[in-house]
Amino acid sequence: MPFYEYHCPSCNTGFTLMRTMAERDEPATCPDCGEFTALREVSAFSTGSGGGGFDGGGGCGSGGFT
Ligand SMILES: [Zn+2]
Repeated sequence: MPFYEYHCPSCNTGFTLMRTMAERDEPATCPDCGEFTALREVSAFSTGSGGGGFDGGGGCGSGGFT
């Protein structure tokens, strides 16, 4: 089972929890204050900067029969 990092907004504490992938996005119980509001920390994985995208590709005149 993989580990996920959670953060409790109530007491501002971070902790690690071992959960299944199906449970990873569900709120977790904070071991510190017991609040069931801790949410998963989204680690800076591949959320790097650098937008981009596929825009600015205007087709060059489609011909057509008149
Ligand atoms: Zn807490």
